[in-house]
Amino acid sequence: MARIVQKYGGTSVGDVERIKKVAERIKATRDEGNELVVVVSARSGVTNELLARAKAVCEFPSERELDMLLATGEQETIALTAMALHGIGVDAVSYTGAQAGIFTDKVHTKAKIKTINAKPIVRDLENAKVVIVAGFQGINEEGQITTLGRGGSDLTAIALAAAVKADKCEIYTDVDGVYSADPRVVKNAQKVPEISYDEMLELASSGSKVMQTRSVEFAKKYNVVFEVRSSFNHNPGTIVKEEVAYMEKVVVRGVAVDKDQAKVVVSNIRDKPGSAAKVFRALADANVNVDMIVQNVGRQGVANLTFTVPQTETGRVAKVLEPVVAVIGGDVAVLEHIAKLSVVGVGMKTHSGVAATLFQALADAGINIELISTSEIKISVVLDLERADEAARVVHTAFQLDRP
Ligand code: ADP
Ligand code: ASP
Ligand code: MG
Repeated sequence: MARIVQKYGGTSVGDVERIKKVAERIKATRDEGNELVVVVSARSGVTNELLARAKAVCEFPSERELDMLLATGEQETIALTAMALHGIGVDAVSYTGAQAGIFTDKVHTKAKIKTINAKPIVRDLENAKVVIVAGFQGINEEGQITTLGRGGSDLTAIALAAAVKADKCEIYTDVDGVYSADPRVVKNAQKVPEISYDEMLELASSGSKVMQTRSVEFAKKYNVVFEVRSSFNHNPGTIVKEEVAYMEKVVVRGVAVDKDQAKVVVSNIRDKPGSAAKVFRALADANVNVDMIVQNVGRQGVANLTFTVPQTETGRVAKVLEPVVAVIGGDVAVLEHIAKLSVVGVGMKTHSGVAATLFQALADAGINIELISTSEIKISVVLDLERADEAARVVHTAFQLDRP
């Protein structure tokens, strides 16, 4: 007998037929004598639909109300999944995030999990119930519903796996593992049997939507080994775990593309100590996530600051920077027509020449590089959105990732 946490993403519970299939899978795991906590997402598309409706009634919806609205998506699927299980004779109970004891901080729409009171869930497991938990949501100390950021059901699953001390955590999605690139874009991408937390983290934060970034951070911190696999077949998936020595032999593990970034250029600011600090202090105070940053000093004592932010935050960036440039001078321009391409691999720590190969592959394809940034195990470039998929393919080939 094992204690297992399974998470089913939006496409896995996309309609009633899929929910019935998922119920069958849960039953099969339960019939093997396992204890089971199941986290489900909203049906695919539902969270986006709800967001669109919010925007249709109010240009800048209150984040508290957004959480109230978005949390309903998962509430539908937990109830339906529990009912589908009842229909095939499995004792199951559904819980919202709050009912599952998931306590978060107060930051609406991207709350962090602070604690989980897993006692009631454990009691249910001991009473042979399958526990179905709504992904992506929790409750803060004021009793308000919060959500955990897009893709947050992954985090719910990993955090619950840690809280109930699960033997196994399985993330079921519509691909049978983590690939060397998004298989929808790069047709000959290869499945990776095992990947380190750090590589998965960099891929996720660079746009590989297969796992939510914060869920991988959490898994690394609490050493939750998990498997990404498909709910549409029984293929073995990808195990995500602590780095082991052999992993460094592979220089580049994968290529990721992020099309949800925007480039902000603050040009002609006074080139004085404190200008950059003022810009980024204002953004930090507004909870804007800044990623790549480049500063170049122009002529006549003015400088340009260029950085990337998530597209969802561009409206706020413009507002936040207005009073800042009134003080330090300069003009703000937001450009959304960009993409960020990254190559990731722990092998970069010990191999050289990765940047040269990357830049050459892009040069050979005639693709221009706008910004560059590097970390120990990642190199990212910003390029034209239109050429992003092509760039992913040529880079994937250049690093010979299409070989099994
Ligand atoms: P879910 O709804 O189950 O959470 P997501 O849509 O969030 O599923 O994530 C699965 C998708 O992630 C896949 O359909 C795939 O297109 C995309 N994806 C992006 N990069 C990768 C990658 N490197 N490996 C596997 N899938 C990837
Ligand atoms: N339903 C949420 C979203 O679409 C959470 C999730 O699916 O993980 O982002
Ligand atoms: Mg997801």
